Amino acid sequence: MDKVEVSDELVVPMDEVAPGVKGLRIAFVNVFGVAHTDGSWTLIDAAIPHTAWRIRSWVETTYGGRAPNAIVLTHGHFDHAGDARELADGWDVPIYAHTLEFPYLTGQKAYDPPNWKAGGGVMPLMGPTFPRDPIDVGDRLRALPGDGTQLTLVELPGWTLMHTPGHTPGHVSFFRESDRTLLVGDAFCTTKPESFFEAALVQHPELHGPPSYFTPDWAAAKSSVEKLAGLRPGTVAPGHGKPLSGAEVAPGLAKLAADFDRIAVPDDVKRGDPDVHAHM
Ligand SMILES: [Zn+2]
Ligand SMILES: [Zn+2]
Repeated sequence: MDKVEVSDELVVPMDEVAPGVKGLRIAFVNVFGVAHTDGSWTLIDAAIPHTAWRIRSWVETTYGGRAPNAIVLTHGHFDHAGDARELADGWDVPIYAHTLEFPYLTGQKAYDPPNWKAGGGVMPLMGPTFPRDPIDVGDRLRALPGDGTQLTLVELPGWTLMHTPGHTPGHVSFFRESDRTLLVGDAFCTTKPESFFEAALVQHPELHGPPSYFTPDWAAAKSSVEKLAGLRPGTVAPGHGKPLSGAEVAPGLAKLAADFDRIAVPDDVKRGDPDVHAHM
């Protein structure tokens, strides 16, 4: 695996990702708050299980304890939907996700087992401790409206929801055209997967594909990155790694899309090894 190098100068602070967009890093994953002109705000993703208290105390200091109008999930992986139910119950708000993620959010289906061979970093060692059991967010789950490819949501005015499958079937990203801000979940990362567990300060920003151990459909992942690169974003905020902003972001992402097979797709997937998704 390779990467697209980007300058440290593109890193923007989590508390000022873009106007009205603030982030919170919990362990190795980011959640984002998106404020609206009417004073309401939306929580994008809900981090790993048992960290709701961290999000609540951030909401206390950042939004004066005001509940968001909704929780919107980029996808249903445990590190993005982990505490969605607990938070939504406490705030009495809906949880939105793409309908293709519903089986994984209603306790019906587990995601494919991780591909332990991908990348060969430290993740395979930690992998077995990663919960894969289907999350059940209960009856607060609502379908993102629209035709399934390009969607809008009343709770997120000014933002377009892009269906960006590959990492998971119903993965979505969020784009605000007015200032070209793009929230990408796990469609791609700005840190290498092996450094997920490093302290935020030592993470050097780089553009990588989606987290390789948990991405089953690389062809779809590639078209999703191409679609996102086509938006020519000025700011990108990923689920893993630091948010980046500046004129170099769009060309960097274009490079990632153009050279996706070499940069992002794990070697064993390219070789077509049969037991890429070895069962646990
Ligand atoms: Zn994921
Ligand atoms: Zn993730």
